[in-house]
Amino acid sequence: MSNGQATLTRDAKEPRIPERSEIEERHKWDLAALYANWTQWEADLNELGRQVDCYASLQGTLARGPESLLAAMKLADDVGVRSYKVWYYASLSYDQDQRDNAVNGRRQQVQILLARWQQASSWFNPELLAIPLEMIRQWMDQNSDLALYRFAFEDLYRQQEHVLDQKGERLLALSERFNSAPTDAFSALSTADVKFPTITLSTGPVPLSYGQYRAILATNRNQADRAEAFRAFHEVYRANINTYAALYNGVMQRDWFHAQAREFKTTLDAALHGNNIPPLVVENLIETTKTGAEPLRRYHRLRKRVLGLESYHSYDGLVPLVEFDRKYAYADILDWIVGSVAPLGPEYQSKLSEAFRLRWIDVYENVGKRSGAYSAPVYGAHPYVLMNYNDTLDAVFTVAHELGHSMHTVLAHSHQPFIYAGYTIFVAEVPSTLNEALFLDYMLARATDERERIVLLQHSIDDILGTFYTQVLFAEYELQAHRLVEQGKPVTSEALGELYLGVLKAYHGDALDYDEMSPITWARIPHFFQTPYYVYQYATCYASTAQLMHELRSGSESVRQSAVDRYLTLLKSGGSDYPMTLLRRAGIDLRQPDPVRAVVEQLDQRVLQLEAEIATLSTQRSQRFAESAEDS
Ligand SMILES: [Zn+2]
Repeated sequence: MSNGQATLTRDAKEPRIPERSEIEERHKWDLAALYANWTQWEADLNELGRQVDCYASLQGTLARGPESLLAAMKLADDVGVRSYKVWYYASLSYDQDQRDNAVNGRRQQVQILLARWQQASSWFNPELLAIPLEMIRQWMDQNSDLALYRFAFEDLYRQQEHVLDQKGERLLALSERFNSAPTDAFSALSTADVKFPTITLSTGPVPLSYGQYRAILATNRNQADRAEAFRAFHEVYRANINTYAALYNGVMQRDWFHAQAREFKTTLDAALHGNNIPPLVVENLIETTKTGAEPLRRYHRLRKRVLGLESYHSYDGLVPLVEFDRKYAYADILDWIVGSVAPLGPEYQSKLSEAFRLRWIDVYENVGKRSGAYSAPVYGAHPYVLMNYNDTLDAVFTVAHELGHSMHTVLAHSHQPFIYAGYTIFVAEVPSTLNEALFLDYMLARATDERERIVLLQHSIDDILGTFYTQVLFAEYELQAHRLVEQGKPVTSEALGELYLGVLKAYHGDALDYDEMSPITWARIPHFFQTPYYVYQYATCYASTAQLMHELRSGSESVRQSAVDRYLTLLKSGGSDYPMTLLRRAGIDLRQPDPVRAVVEQLDQRVLQLEAEIATLSTQRSQRFAESAEDS
């Protein structure tokens, strides 16, 4: 996830977007590490097709013994490794310029082949699960190569506990066809069919859109303008609030149907089962965060004071506290980013610097290029990072963030066999947020201008609010809303509004003035409709990072070194065990309050620093004022 900063609509003064051919080679990623050309790619694609057919022919052989099972596992690994390279060569090429139809065609060729692989391998799980687990365990004891797959086998049998008989699975499969209806209807209502009005601000009329709304909240220093944008934006949702409530009820009833059908006690249990996460993790996350809401409130009170506002609303949370417009040239930040990860050791640093030297990164925007940023984990090569670098502070932090993902990929891929090389979202955002935290420390220590320090601190605090507090607030709302459904209580727009306002107040208390629209703001959060019980994982990752950073920053040399070792082991472990187990080995127990407390403490520190910087700035201002008064 990129951090939740506002993306501004393109300013008319900005230079035109260049063609890809105008970008210097050193600022483009080098795909030659995958294939020299499309001819080589095509040869590998054909080989992949042959392997897929070969795999299909193994059906019916597993029960013959450990060697047969091992042969199927190894062939599946080969298919996996090859499909990474074949897929990413086409997909990364496509993202360079999405107008290229020939490349898009090749990308679709891979998609079709991967769909064929799905079908060609669908016999495997039922055939394996027909063999008793005890037998598989005996085979693993006999055959050490097969024992490599122990965790994968054990997990498959564990997941099987909630799989129904053939008739039950068929019914559930049939229901898939309308499962997405409430989510699709939400998207249509809030995107395709949405009509935003033109609003009148102090500067004149402005046609409202999602981008425009974010831009007004993030840049417009006139509170009345922000209030008007907020009101008009949410009026669009209020006009359909009963429809939004009915759709959300549909989402939750679907979740509850599936949970009950698979014999889970609650929707939360069902959602957490895949990664084997105990529900206590989510409950503890919510409870501990709520008791740590005071620094959040202090930050908003500070903003209210600095911005000179009489009342403070949810639309006042984004405007920068000071005007500071430093540009960060890409050439300048490379040494900083490498320097910032020094606490993780010289080996980590030197590996990370390869990203710049060996052209893992596609730096600048060009016509047709995919927007946003990502790190692509290409097994058998190295990660590739897509950026749209634009010299802003956000862009610098995005480079640090994506390279955190890349280093996770590098360490996991070089220490794990293919089957465990991937990692789950439950740990994925730990290295990315940890790299960002290290980078912030590095920048704060070097910033000579107090306004730059204020901008850095606000960036860090906004990040804690967006990646942690807001996600926990969302998690609590969806948990409570699902509980209404589980308890057979009515789910109306009023009930949902009351619930949401209650949750908002539990976190923000009297630091926020609530508006007529506050209770309905839940209706514009796509995540509630699209990915229930998902984003809490950003918060748990953030808490894990905070605890690690606490040890990296403050401990004695031995505490620090032990934290670094445990952290690097976590990255090297990839997906070789359940995320809770891997994190516990790294010293992080998410069932305990400590990781969340580390976030609260970090926010408390940042707000303290910000209060101090602002006090210094205003003293200087009044001194300057006094001096100029003496001069005259
Ligand atoms: Zn990320």
